[in-house]
Amino acid sequence: MRKKIVAGNWKMNMNLNEGMALADGLNEYFKANPLSGKEVILCTPFIHLGMVGGLLTAPGLTFGAQNCNDHKSGAYTGEVSASMIRSTGAGSVILGHSERRTLYGENDELLESKTAEALRNGLRVIFCCGEVFAEREGNIHFDVVKRQLEKGLFGLSAEDFRRCVIAYEPVWAIGTGVTASPAQAQEMHSFIRGLVEKKYGKETAGDTTILYGGSCKASNAAELFANSDVDGGLIGGASLVKEEFCSIVNSL
Ligand code: PEP
Repeated sequence: MRKKIVAGNWKMNMNLNEGMALADGLNEYFKANPLSGKEVILCTPFIHLGMVGGLLTAPGLTFGAQNCNDHKSGAYTGEVSASMIRSTGAGSVILGHSERRTLYGENDELLESKTAEALRNGLRVIFCCGEVFAEREGNIHFDVVKRQLEKGLFGLSAEDFRRCVIAYEPVWAIGTGVTASPAQAQEMHSFIRGLVEKKYGKETAGDTTILYGGSCKASNAAELFANSDVDGGLIGGASLVKEEFCSIVNSL
């Protein structure tokens, strides 16, 4: 069955104490206000993972990382492997975020290996795709997203693919305050579901969770989530403020 999810991408924000305080506050909130079937994933910096897991007791409240290395282990100074992430109790990892693609040169091939390594280690992958503004203006946004999914994700077996969540994040909307309109989000999500159907069949497409990300906040979440192919959100800036994030979750 298709799952409703809100994932918070903390990016490179908050020291350990601040992160623990936020996680603790969210845990208390979702204990008092049960998620009833929805899932909330806190995607924290690596340093928080080992501690945050111990704080989360509210049903449906889980945690994950924002990146992993594509190798199993070895001489990769400064890197963190999927198995290390999994050993903290984390259940998910974001891969293919536009900041990783742009700032750290992560390409489709690397993301394909990272995805395989994450899945091999029991992590669910939140796989991001999305076009930059010039690509939308040039009307090639569908082609770009199709390529990112075909190259990064569609090499997976159906069984492995079913352990992935797709996040559509138009790059022009990330951290800019400009959000895709509900119609633009629905149009792309429906296109993505169509691609999944062509590759993996109707049942898998119907079960695939597709999140929207890009300046989603309390004031616009409900209208984005109201669309039939938008199954939740990947939230950056607004995930750092407890009340704002809880309000977004409640909109789902
Ligand atoms: C993100 O980084 O995944 C994101 C959606 O950021 P923001 O919500 O801040 O636009």
